[in-house]
This record gives sequence, structure tokens and C-alpha cells, in this order.
Amino acid sequence: MNKIKLLPPDQAQKIAAGEVVERPANIIKELLENSLDAGAKQISLYIEEAGKKLIRIIDDGCGMSPEDASLCFLPHATSKITSIDQLETLTSYGFRGEALASISAVSKVTLLTKQAAQKSGILLQYSESKVLQQKEASCPQGTDLSVADLFYNVPVRKKFLKQDETEWNQIQSLFQAFCISNPTIAFKLFHDNKLILNAPPVTNLKDRITQVWDFNFAQQLLPLKSSAHIPEWLSVSGYISNHHFWRYGKQTIFFFVNERWVKNPELSKALLKGYLNVLPPGKYPAAFIMLTLKKDLVDINCHPKKEEVRFTKPGAVATAITTLVKQTLEQSVSHKLEQKSSLPVYEKQAYQIPLESKHLQKPEYTHQLFDLFPPQPRTYQEQNTHEPIIHVRPQENIEPISIPQTEIFTANIVGQLFNTYILIDNDDEFIMIDQHAAHERILYEKFLKNFAHKEGTKLLFPEIIQLTKENLVTLVKEKEFFAQQGFELEQVSPTEVALKTAPPQLNDTPLKAFIYDILAFIEENEQADYELFRKKLNEHTHSHMACKAAIKAGDKLTHEQMVQLVKDLYKTEKRFICVHGRPTIWSISKHEIEKHFRR
Ligand code: ADP
Ligand code: MG
Repeated sequence: MNKIKLLPPDQAQKIAAGEVVERPANIIKELLENSLDAGAKQISLYIEEAGKKLIRIIDDGCGMSPEDASLCFLPHATSKITSIDQLETLTSYGFRGEALASISAVSKVTLLTKQAAQKSGILLQYSESKVLQQKEASCPQGTDLSVADLFYNVPVRKKFLKQDETEWNQIQSLFQAFCISNPTIAFKLFHDNKLILNAPPVTNLKDRITQVWDFNFAQQLLPLKSSAHIPEWLSVSGYISNHHFWRYGKQTIFFFVNERWVKNPELSKALLKGYLNVLPPGKYPAAFIMLTLKKDLVDINCHPKKEEVRFTKPGAVATAITTLVKQTLEQSVSHKLEQKSSLPVYEKQAYQIPLESKHLQKPEYTHQLFDLFPPQPRTYQEQNTHEPIIHVRPQENIEPISIPQTEIFTANIVGQLFNTYILIDNDDEFIMIDQHAAHERILYEKFLKNFAHKEGTKLLFPEIIQLTKENLVTLVKEKEFFAQQGFELEQVSPTEVALKTAPPQLNDTPLKAFIYDILAFIEENEQADYELFRKKLNEHTHSHMACKAAIKAGDKLTHEQMVQLVKDLYKTEKRFICVHGRPTIWSISKHEIEKHFRR
């Protein structure tokens, strides 16, 4: 018996629609591309209920003739190519002629359009692959397209739409990307009748970034400097954030390939590699990176939604990005250093590192970059001001640590240096201990042991913390975890929680920033393997707590406090490194000292 049946065309169309139309942001991408292809100079986008209820786009492009207006919803209807051979020379975004067909198969579409030469335009209503209404209508030149009730006829698809917040975030990112790659076009974005963004035409990328974000944000950006290390077939330009700036997520990282916004994890990885040891773990830069390369070196059509790209030489592209990012950060730092006149002694020493370009190729380069930022006093107090927080992450090739040969007798503490290091005379060796790193290690191991029993103390004034819907969901899910760490949180409004208790060790630290950090960590990592995620969450939380609660560089210690610290350090398991992989102890033998003085 024959089993194969051909699906009726309307059913087939609904299925095919899934390739292009998964969520509101995909539709908006197709519509924005159509408007740009039509030569629009002004584009306004109106969104209702995160695009689920309405997506309406109005442009002043070339418009369509009445005949084209009724043809454009048919599958494979395109004005952009007439044969597959033209793909090579194509300069438009669209060419497959499937976007409008797919969109109109799963929503109720109204099209109002007019070409310049025509007296009046045409209004067309279309749904379920049928024209419901078609009539003459007066309208300005251009196209006004409304997509209403998305997936009203495909309930399974509708179920897969995310919460409005998530869909809206995707729409915003997409819209931002279009604004960035087309600075000379005027864009407006409305959500539920509120004007969200108004970006009149500008002539350069920096001005566009200022419009879309704000002046302060744009001030944090460094222009990417081209360099001799970039292969001649690739051109890279754009902006990246400086070493003072970080975000909790990747929402301000944008890559464009031949002017198209693309999502490519390899490109992001290459960027983050450039920031290694410059940004704290789990924090992200902002980046707007434009790559231009010949069409035969990149495949933009490997994905039905044309969001992903494949390079013929992915490794070389990634290396070029990492190198440029490092170089740009390095140059900005060395430029600042030249401007500094009087530095404290220990800073001067650290800054005296040759910055010749040959170092850029060496793997240890990242350490040199780190060395440019010596640990600052009270580093961790600066979190809520977006000031630099520079960590070294644990890594295999960290500089060798010279470890004391024998156990310490604590009575030989000879003093404290720069209010930062504890100095110990240990018979045949001289030992220095970094007080912050050491205390961090002690607290970390203590927190880890008392995992489920941390008592919070009541805060005199509960701290009110503003949260997004996503944050709230995370918080409700992880309430028990927070309670175990000593944080009692209670929801006080749809967008706020009150922090009522906190571990006593953290009393003097910005608690809000701490909660934000843990929430961001959970949201970014929870998809990972469950066991691994719990382990990582504990490690992250405890190292963060340890870091905040530990005494700081710059704190004066009494002799007794130093004795206690050294004793406690020697009871820890991993006493030679702090939780970020920095050494806690450094020793130099008597013999080495004697050699130095030629005794
Ligand atoms: P493609 O963009 O791949 O050609 P679409 O389904 O997105 O396919 O659009 C079909 C056709 O409808 C386009 O080729 C174009 O001729 C016309 N069209 C769509 N949107 C617009 C617009 N905003 N202004 C003018 N013409 C448009
Ligand atoms: Mg199109």
C-alpha cells in the first residue's frame, strides 16, 4: 500500500514558514531587510505585545505596483533575482522570495503600498494564503505592512513563543543591530505606542551608537585600530569597550559581516580572548565589529534565516580579531601611561614593561597586559561604579610561584609592607604574603566547608533591589540557594525584592551588586549540565563572597592579625594560590639575596 501523500499547499506553506518565521524578531528582520532593499531612508517600526499582537513597519522606499503587491505573497516571488547565477553578484538582503509568503501563511497581513509614479496606492489584506480584500487607497510613497496575530492558525508554534520580555529583548537587539549597520537611515521604534528609540540619520558609527545607547556609553569605546597583523583579504573596523567597562551579559556585542548582523560564537570567543585577564570572569565587553571580506571567502546563506556565517578561513578571522582587540586595549593603556606623570613607586615598576609589537605575538602577552594593572587598593569596593576590576583567572601557564621550602613559624613576622604584604623571616628564606589573596583563600575554603549552614544577620534597613522579570523567575527558583548562603529575600513589588539578611562578613560591601552578579551567573550558566552547574555556582558564589569579605590591600594589620592570618593560611588546602589563581605567597632564599648583594 502506498504511504506517501502530498500535503495540501497551505499546510506545506505553514511548515515551510517555520524555516524563516520562528519568532517576532525573525519577521522583523525580514521586513527591515525588505525596506532597506526598497531603498528606504526612513523606517518606523511599531510593535505591540512584543510582536505577538502586531508588527507594523512603515517605510518610504520604492513601494510596489498593484500587480506586485498581489504577487509578493506567493512562494518564490522576488524582484531581486531571476536566476540562481545572480547570487554571486547580489547586493540586496533578500533574494529567495519566501519571507512574505511564509509570514502571510502564519499571520494576518495588511499591505498598503504606492510607487512614486502612481496617483494612488493599493490596500491588500491577506491571510491563510488568500487575498481577503484588495482596493485602491491613498497613501504616501512607500510601504506600510502590518503583521497581526502571529501564529493564530498554528497553535503549536504559538506555544513555543517565549515570554514577552524575552521576545522584546530579541527585537531590541535586532533593531539596534540594524541601526548600527545603517547609520544614514532614520529609524524609529515604538512599543505598545511608546516611542522607544528615535535615531535620525547620522554620518558615522560613533554618533549612531550615541543615539542608540547614550553619550556615556559611547565614551567608553575605543576605535579598532587596523594593523599589519591582519591578512590583506580581511578588513576589520568598529569599536570595542575599554578596560574600565563591563556588562553582565553579551547584549552589547555585535558582529557584522559585509554589513549584515551575524551571530557567530567563534567570533565572540575570539573577542573575549582579546579581553583575557582584562575583564573579570563572567563579565563582557561591548563591541561593534565590522568585518569586510570578498564574497567567496564567506558563506552567508548557510542558514535559512541568514543569521549565521561560515568563513573559508575561520581560524585566521578569529586570530585577527583577538590580535586587534589586544592591540587596541594595549595602545589605549600605553597612551594613558604616557600621560601619567607621577605614579606611586610600585605602580611605576609595574608599568615599565616594553610595549613593542613583537610581544603581541607571544602567548605571555596577556600577563603583560595584566601587569599593567597592578592590584589597586580596595579593588572590590568599586563594583557599583563600573570601575576597573582586574582579575587573573586560574590558568595553566601562570608564572611559576616560588614556594617556601619549610613551614613557617609565625613568630618571625617582621612587618607589613605597603599595608599590603606580610613579611616573614623564615631562617633561610624571606617570605612575602599578599594579605588580600591569602585571606580570600582562607575564607573561600571556610565558605565551601559550611556550604549549607551560612547564617545571615538581619540588616538594619532592608536593601531594595530592582529586578527584571527574568531575574525574578531565577530568584524564585533559587530562593533556597540564596537562603543557604545567608541571603533572605522577599518580593515587595512586581519588580522589586527586599534583601533582609546577609552574611555578616559581607556587611561592608555593596550587596546589590553581589545579588545581581549571582543572578547573572545563574542565568548564563543554568543550561549547562545540572551537576556541573551546581558545582560552578557554589564555586562562583563562594569565591565572590570570599573576595568581597577579605581584607583589602591597603588595610593596616596588627601583629596579632598577621599571625592569625598566616596560621589560618597554613591550614588551607590550596594555600599557594588565591581563588582567582594569583599567588598568595612569594619567597626568596637567603642564598639568592646574598648573591644579589655579592656577599
Ligand atoms: P525577497 O526579499 O527575498 O525578494 P520577500 O518575500 O521578502 O522576498 O519579498 C518579496 C518581494 O516583495 C520583494 O522581492 C520585493 O519586490 C517586494 N517587497 C517586499 N517588501 C517590500 C517593501 N518594503 N518595499 C518594496 N517592495 C517590497
Ligand atoms: Mg525579503
